[in-house]
Amino acid sequence: MTNRYQWAVIGAGPAGIAALGKLIDNGVNPKEIAWIDPEFKAGDLGRLWRNVSSNTKVDLFIQFLNACKSFRYNQCPTPFELHSLDPQKTCLLTYAADPLLWVTEQLKAQVNPITAMVLKMKMQDRHWQLTLQQGNIESKNVVLALGSEPRVMDSAVPVIPMLDAMDKNRLAKWVDSSDTIAVFGASHSAIIVIRSLLELGAKQVINFYRDALRYAVYMDNWILFDNTGLKGETAKWAREHIDGNMPKNLLRVWSNDDNVKAYLPQCTTAIQAIGFNRRHIPTEGLLTYSHNDKSGIIAPGLFGCGIAFPETTVDTFGNVEASVGMWKFMNYLNRVVPVWQKYVN
Ligand SMILES: Cc1cc2nc3c(=O)[nH]c(=O)nc-3n(C[C@H](O)[C@H](O)[C@H](O)COP(=O)(O)OP(=O)(O)OC[C@H]3O[C@@H](n4cnc5c(N)ncnc54)[C@H](O)[C@@H]3O)c2cc1C
Repeated sequence: MTNRYQWAVIGAGPAGIAALGKLIDNGVNPKEIAWIDPEFKAGDLGRLWRNVSSNTKVDLFIQFLNACKSFRYNQCPTPFELHSLDPQKTCLLTYAADPLLWVTEQLKAQVNPITAMVLKMKMQDRHWQLTLQQGNIESKNVVLALGSEPRVMDSAVPVIPMLDAMDKNRLAKWVDSSDTIAVFGASHSAIIVIRSLLELGAKQVINFYRDALRYAVYMDNWILFDNTGLKGETAKWAREHIDGNMPKNLLRVWSNDDNVKAYLPQCTTAIQAIGFNRRHIPTEGLLTYSHNDKSGIIAPGLFGCGIAFPETTVDTFGNVEASVGMWKFMNYLNRVVPVWQKYVN
């Protein structure tokens, strides 16, 4: 017989963790929740981005960990290293990932964890039918916290995957002092990659960019370019080395067809730091997911959150941005989960 649940949360990254925490805190019986992920390793943040310098302050990670009673974080026997860091500074993401793994175990003990990928979904009899790698389940409501994958484009030269590019130790295996490497993009990720390549001693880095660098500006109670601006150590490095004294072996060129034709053939490899695309589960009747970016509603009983389904926010000056970050997911879920509970299938 197929197991039937009230709620299924797909994905155990920061967004899935936050969604589960909010559902339980809001009175959903944990025994009626299925939580599905192939690894339960705190998502991409825990599996892939540990050695990446964060763009948010330590303080916000701590607020996230304390935001849900069901995380039981106040019962954690020994404090994680995160708590010995300066709360007003950024840090490597590994410091946030370790306590997230501890919280994952607390949540797994309360709900029905299922270690699997969800392969497809369809709605039948007002229940979502989820086909897993092994077996099927049904759930009245489903939360998609699937995360995103680095965007890729065609390339005339071999491409170093972002997964390796974002981790300096892994990147070192791709780089030697005779290499000229192209980096596409000018975001937080692109700047981290350029810095690592220069520090690893690449002969030359050619950065194809489309916009001037953008820095976050901390105002009294809001941040200009909160989601798109450079922050922390990465911002400091960019001010000194890109907008300051450009290293001799860094060339920055406008990313247009002529420049790509002229400069890319000089490169041994390329890195494409050009954004992320949401993951998708083939869903009968829904070719793509279009979510309401103010409420996370995708369809009856189907909701989205996290980097794949972010809230769109407008700042004091009217700038519209996708709101991405652990604390932002938590804040958003705090507002939308009560709505989801009324929009049930
Ligand atoms: C390079 C980088 C740096 C970042 N730095 C910060 C930062 O400093 N501070 C901050 O707050 N945020 C940061 N973020 C943003 C964000 O917090 C992370 O991207 C975070 O990992 C997103 O969480 P998520 O839960 O939405 O997705 P993910 O962490 O990607 O988790 C998704 C989970 O869903 C699972 N999944 C996917 N498809 C299926 C399926 N079909 N069936 C079952 N499971 C599935 C995946 O295996 C994964 O475990 C950063 C993001 C990136 C890319």
